[in-house]
Amino acid sequence: MSKILLVEPGFPIPAKSKNHRDFLPVGLLKLASYHKANGDKVRLVRGDKLVGEFCPDEIKITSLFTYWSKYVWDSVKFYKKNYPRAHITVGGIYASLMPDHCKQSECDKVFVGVDPKAEASAPDYSLVDVDYQIVHSSRGCVRKCKFCGTWKIEPEFIPKKSIKDEICSNRVIFYDNNLLANPYIKDILDELKNAKCNGRAVYSESQCGIDGRLLTPELAKLLKQAHFLNPRIAWDHGYSQRQMIKKQIEMLIEAGYRAKEMYVFMISNFEHDFYEMLQKIKECKKWGVQTADCRYRPLNQTFDNYNPRVAQTSADYFIHQNWMDWQVKLFRRKVREQNIVIRHGFESYNRELERLGRK
Ligand code: SF4
Repeated sequence: MSKILLVEPGFPIPAKSKNHRDFLPVGLLKLASYHKANGDKVRLVRGDKLVGEFCPDEIKITSLFTYWSKYVWDSVKFYKKNYPRAHITVGGIYASLMPDHCKQSECDKVFVGVDPKAEASAPDYSLVDVDYQIVHSSRGCVRKCKFCGTWKIEPEFIPKKSIKDEICSNRVIFYDNNLLANPYIKDILDELKNAKCNGRAVYSESQCGIDGRLLTPELAKLLKQAHFLNPRIAWDHGYSQRQMIKKQIEMLIEAGYRAKEMYVFMISNFEHDFYEMLQKIKECKKWGVQTADCRYRPLNQTFDNYNPRVAQTSADYFIHQNWMDWQVKLFRRKVREQNIVIRHGFESYNRELERLGRK
């Protein structure tokens, strides 16, 4: 029996979002189950903290985005100093994308990719306070988009045929990279349609945007019947794709979704410049759908000190050659304001209306 300390570094996540579905350290929760099943003693720590009498033999630290590498290094330093005899492994996204950089943190081992032992275990939700569960119905992706690290970390696309035995909550969050690419997606949606937990229906959502190129009218209907909420369609490329995206939205509307409960997911601060991106969000406004924008950072970016309130340069955060600092910030503001207009059905944005909309 070993004592295992599982660590989520002190990432700059606001306290109220610690248990938000986007940030749950699900890999650590799976490792917790795996080690407990093997008779090990397990503790989970979120941030750099001492754990009383518990003196770990092994410390497993997770990592997230490469631009949050600093927090991983801080954790390695803190736990190495306080538990010099423990063996420290770092795994997760940053460790998998930049193993050589991660090794310089002076951890004992860098774990690259998905741990098959952990992957076979259900997350131990007793260690966190959440009202949802996370499900991977597939790993990897069938595509290789150049801005995405999925295909580097999870090179093989591995779909599951069924998830019904995993359901233990009325709210399922899919962490699939490309949910619709699963060849068994119709069966899985059928399982969700009929699933019950505590006698009540099960609702689901996807953390990633859905790959609308794989959407069909039949799949759109199945998503709706499966109580799948707030579909987010990925519009990763240029304005020239607008007809295709429009058709995907129409399929979802035909299936019963309302425009304002949908999102179009897009990448800013990347190859398509500010003015083209403005055209894209104008289309979203025309369609009455909200925009979920993601600010691009390269997969080997090791810092990000973005601050929306002050003027900055590339020394502070990554600014793509097709963009300028003011454009990155103005675009994000426009997306936010437009979403408020769409959500509340306003004619146009103003602060007073936003305040009233919140009441
Ligand atoms: S489809 Fe999505 S998950 Fe797959 S490679 Fe492209 S961005 Fe990544």
